[in-house]
Amino acid sequence: MPDEADIGNDLMLLQTELAIRESAARSSGLPPASKNCLFCGADLPAGGAGVQARWCDEDCRDDWEREQRALNRRAGGGPASSAGDRFVSRFDTD
Ligand SMILES: [Zn+2]
Repeated sequence: MPDEADIGNDLMLLQTELAIRESAARSSGLPPASKNCLFCGADLPAGGAGVQARWCDEDCRDDWEREQRALNRRAGGGPASSAGDRFVSRFDTD
């Protein structure tokens, strides 16, 4: 029978890790890594690093960044109000 304290510890570690990951993504102005390209939705190879953690390639990334800027502008974000701390997903990841 599992120890309840152990389960609590695991949960807390997991939550801490998620929070760290989330804040890292936020401070870099990027959404968390995804297994689908954020721009075109194509499947990405597992365990990708760098640009491939989020996009197929630089082209998708550049187009996505351009789109994000346009969307943020339209949403009233304005260039001065944020360092890119919000992003708009065009895909349901659930
Ligand atoms: Zn793509």
